[in-house]
Amino acid sequence: MKVGVLGGGQLARMLALAGLPLGVRCRFLDPSPHAVAGHVGELVVAPYDDPEGLRRLADGVDVVTFEFENVPAAAIELLQQHVRVAPAPVALAIGQDRVREKTLFGELGMATPTWRAASGRDELHAAVAAVGLPCIVKTRRLGYDGKGQARLAAGADTAAIDAVWQDLGDPRNGGLIVEGFVRFDREVSVLAARARNGAVAYYPLVENVHEGGILRRSRAPAPGVPAAVAQRAHAFVRAAMERLDYVGVLAVEMFLRGDELLVNEMAPRVHNSGHWTIEGAACSQFENHLRAILGLPLGSTAMAGGGQATMVNLIGDLPERGALLELPGLHLHAYGKGLRPGRKVGHATVVGADRGAIDALAAQALLLLPGDPAAWGFDG
Ligand code: AMP
Repeated sequence: MKVGVLGGGQLARMLALAGLPLGVRCRFLDPSPHAVAGHVGELVVAPYDDPEGLRRLADGVDVVTFEFENVPAAAIELLQQHVRVAPAPVALAIGQDRVREKTLFGELGMATPTWRAASGRDELHAAVAAVGLPCIVKTRRLGYDGKGQARLAAGADTAAIDAVWQDLGDPRNGGLIVEGFVRFDREVSVLAARARNGAVAYYPLVENVHEGGILRRSRAPAPGVPAAVAQRAHAFVRAAMERLDYVGVLAVEMFLRGDELLVNEMAPRVHNSGHWTIEGAACSQFENHLRAILGLPLGSTAMAGGGQATMVNLIGDLPERGALLELPGLHLHAYGKGLRPGRKVGHATVVGADRGAIDALAAQALLLLPGDPAAWGFDG
């Protein structure tokens, strides 16, 4: 079986690695000849909206999928003339627009941070006034890893709001969304896979720590979250998947404040907060995404390897490989990307039965990163 993947980064690469034991081959489309998925499968180098590149991607594959949601609509239309596309384009269209996402969450009865859309400078002022300070202003489209966002502090004045418009108001960003600043206790995410026949499999709730808008650490199952909260999160994701007739893995990020869940955003694809599933679950998010989009039965999402998992992202730089691999039981994933500040270049996962022990080992891995360990700011 063959799968075409739009995008050739680390997510595409891990999809392909999960496919190999199943006899599934992946082909990728990416504008960069250095795209790291090219190490493990055929890479078509062309812009995402290039008709010839898209045709080559689709040629002879069973299905085309995506490693990112900002896929040009024209590319999807063109692909659909040649091949099955999963997840459905409507999920991508919603996933690439923060206002459509939050509208959907509201329709499904889920609480979100307070929000208002703004498509001009005056509307931005009105939206900030309506939402109140402090708040976060985000571009509706094209934001990722904390990019395309600005915070307005409690005392922000007219000039500060104007400066945000100056910074983010580019029409290519599709307008802005203003969100009330949530003083959450924790961030969590739900990953689930839905098969073509409607079967749904959920991974345990994941706890995530972000800094500077970038995911730093994920722990699963999210320590200390009551089962009833996890069930509510799962029920919501099921409702979203059913509404979108979703096929594949969907990730939904939420804030937890007390027992209250506020939905932040969804990613219609495999997700960084699910990387721990490679070693920490019976069947990884990558394999389950492939199974789903190929019409195969879903694999078990039960925890494996002791029942607890911690994943830390390696950002900007990689520790010395030998030193890292001396840590007993640590699993290293180096993506083969060039090193650059703020860039996700790898991750490490530790699984086991003892939460304290695996967290300590993951923290040790981060201490091996060049730079100031205090900047990681984890409490344990
Ligand atoms: P996002 O790109 O929406 O996932 O935002 C990146 C990170 O910024 C989130 O994971 C949170 O840590 C933080 N963040 C985003 N929106 C809010 C909000 N409304 N209130 C507080 N923190 C937020």
